Amino acid sequence: MCVEDRMGARKASAGKDGDRRIGRRALIVGGVAAAAGTAVLARDELGRLWWRVPGVEKPREQGAVDFADARWVAASDANWRRADRPDDYGIDMVIVHVTQGSFDSAVRAFQDPGHKAATHYIVGQDGRVTQMIRELDVAYHAGDRDYNERSVGIEHEGFVDRPQDFTDEMYEASARLTARICARYDIPVDREHIIGHVEVPGTDHTDPGPHWDWDRYMRLVRRARTGTV
Ligand SMILES: [Zn+2]
Repeated sequence: MCVEDRMGARKASAGKDGDRRIGRRALIVGGVAAAAGTAVLARDELGRLWWRVPGVEKPREQGAVDFADARWVAASDANWRRADRPDDYGIDMVIVHVTQGSFDSAVRAFQDPGHKAATHYIVGQDGRVTQMIRELDVAYHAGDRDYNERSVGIEHEGFVDRPQDFTDEMYEASARLTARICARYDIPVDREHIIGHVEVPGTDHTDPGPHWDWDRYMRLVRRARTGTV
């Protein structure tokens, strides 16, 4: 659930998290430099800085969606950060959430600038899909800056302790959505790249919870993915 994700969002926007990121990056730089030399690094750095040059951002159209079946409702821009993915940050992960409330309450929360969290998509129990943040942009949903930057977040309408909330329509619509995301960014359809919020390191969130049927979901994503090649 992202309805209680305020801590993560605050971390993501504060300098503290930036410092942590630099620390982690320094570690990666050390490791990669030892293994592969500095040419790769220089290219990587250029790639990351390039998007900051004015005029290279991808054109955006008001109300455009990344998933054809989605309806667009804009989230408050306090709940996400403008980016130019996958060129500035690669996308290699889908993170599954459960709203712990109704579909409409999740939409309202993500429109609320005080909420400080939101996912890219919400999937309803009736199978409807609403997109609130472009996949280009970084949504605050994982409570971890690195995971936010590399992932697409999908909320599912319901409560973790109510298995009946996870309907056939929801599983199928969400699987089609995830399959499209995996196709778009060449993300492997496996449980290392399609994870629950609970699996983000350091999180205290439990969603999607024990009643989320991962075997069924992955089977549906795999089937939809084969159909989208
Ligand atoms: Zn969550």
